[in-house]
Amino acid sequence: KKITIAIDGFSSTGKSTLAKQLANHLGYVYVDTGAMYRAVTYFAMQNGYITSDYFDKETLINSLPFIKLHFEFNPKVGFGEIFLNGENVENQIRTMEVSGNVSRVAEVSEVRSKLVEQQQEMGKEKGIVMDGRDIGTVVFPDAELKIFMNASLETRAQRRFDELRSKGQEVSFEEVLKNVQERDYIDTHREDSPLVKAKDAIEIDNSNLDREQQFQKVLQLVDT
Ligand code: C5P
Repeated sequence: KKITIAIDGFSSTGKSTLAKQLANHLGYVYVDTGAMYRAVTYFAMQNGYITSDYFDKETLINSLPFIKLHFEFNPKVGFGEIFLNGENVENQIRTMEVSGNVSRVAEVSEVRSKLVEQQQEMGKEKGIVMDGRDIGTVVFPDAELKIFMNASLETRAQRRFDELRSKGQEVSFEEVLKNVQERDYIDTHREDSPLVKAKDAIEIDNSNLDREQQFQKVLQLVDT
């Protein structure tokens, strides 16, 4: 029987790596909800609604009906890539600039309710692995399996730093560490759907676990 798997946790805990691996193994659909918040942020940046020290929330809220998001499976990479109003923005949403603004956009209730609704629609069909911050608490409170991932701040910042560097982005470790810390703070303190572990979620601290160990651990949970 196909189930719904919710994977939540702090930034750069390896949620998406694990979620993709699980989805491929089980033949499930993977949905990266962070990509949706990032795409809305990218839209807001492109239109000048948000910069590092300015945010015109009202105009963004009024523009929400004009933001259309969808995922298209790319067999070359093995997961669904995100499209914003028909354009593939998978690479554009992974920059430090977007990371620097996304948590402020994700605080806006109107943004959250629009995206949550679309995520619930995508999850109507069973056999889904969705990762984010509020999947087990808000999007799918009835998910059959909920995982909450955590790792030390240093481990997470190092991972994100390595990832950005491997993509050729010029960033310093300090800059990445500060960004991860800032997002943690905003994500856990916002009024609407703050990041918390669902009561029935199983916590995995992967500071000392490699990918394969985490994958095997979660696979066992799927089988039981
Ligand atoms: O998962 P990722 O790090 O790409 O998410 C980017 C940001 O989007 C998070 O730091 C958080 O502010 C926001 N987010 C959220 N709820 C989700 C997924 C992401 O608020 N379900």
